[in-house]
Amino acid sequence: MIHIETRQAVIKFQLARSLFGRAFYYTSAYLVDGLLVDTGCAYTVSELLGALDGHAVHTIVNTHAHEDHIAGNAAVQERFGAAVLAHPKALPVLADPASRRLRLYQRVMWGYPAPSTGAVLGNVVETPRYRFRVIHTPGHSIDHICLFEPHEGWLFTGDAYVGGTDRALRADYNIWNILESLRKLADLDSSCLFPGSGTIRENPREELLAKIRYLEESGGRVLDLHARGWSRRRIREEVFGSEGAIAWFTMGHFSGLNLVRSYIEDRPIFRELSHTKAPPNK
Ligand SMILES: [Zn+2]
Repeated sequence: MIHIETRQAVIKFQLARSLFGRAFYYTSAYLVDGLLVDTGCAYTVSELLGALDGHAVHTIVNTHAHEDHIAGNAAVQERFGAAVLAHPKALPVLADPASRRLRLYQRVMWGYPAPSTGAVLGNVVETPRYRFRVIHTPGHSIDHICLFEPHEGWLFTGDAYVGGTDRALRADYNIWNILESLRKLADLDSSCLFPGSGTIRENPREELLAKIRYLEESGGRVLDLHARGWSRRRIREEVFGSEGAIAWFTMGHFSGLNLVRSYIEDRPIFRELSHTKAPPNK
């Protein structure tokens, strides 16, 4: 299923696999001045190609190498001769997507991408009319980047910013790095935020700051209860409530317990302490 929307010079392609006539989880690709930001999942490649008819694509940038953002690379590369650019850590996944084992829910919703050939993204991506700054925003994944066009105020955030109130986290995300990346994004003078899923935001700074406040407050509560000796399960119940449908659907890959764990174990001070070796006995 595909929905197309235009905002200023940016075309948004909202893509989702449909099953039984219902769309599951939309991922967005954006086309601006010959630059395609992300390419959707394996099930929506032909719809994306159809929608790109009549347009030129010179360059593809992947915000990160998750399977719902890179699967159209190979087909678009072949049709338009476009260069694919991504963070260095994304390139091995682009070349061999099957090397990253997908879970059942990921195979059902997005499937395995076809391999594609990427090159290392520099600090800037230029199109004939625009100049995008590349901002490294790890947390959702280590290879995550965002694109910022300072003159237009456009901010393409992939999955670095996800709207709503987080009550679950994927097992391999790092909530403290997510927070740090959101702070970086909130410092930019942006006027329009184009997310990897969800609606385009016209008040990026307010939305980013509200998200940061929520995540900081939740983290403070988690760490406070942890210091008081509460179990992680009890902390989750208190701060985020019982596990939602996502924990069931992803068989625990996303869960409130993962969010509590990341707040406790991934905080920089904890990592420093746990990596510090005990001094040798004198
Ligand atoms: Zn992602």
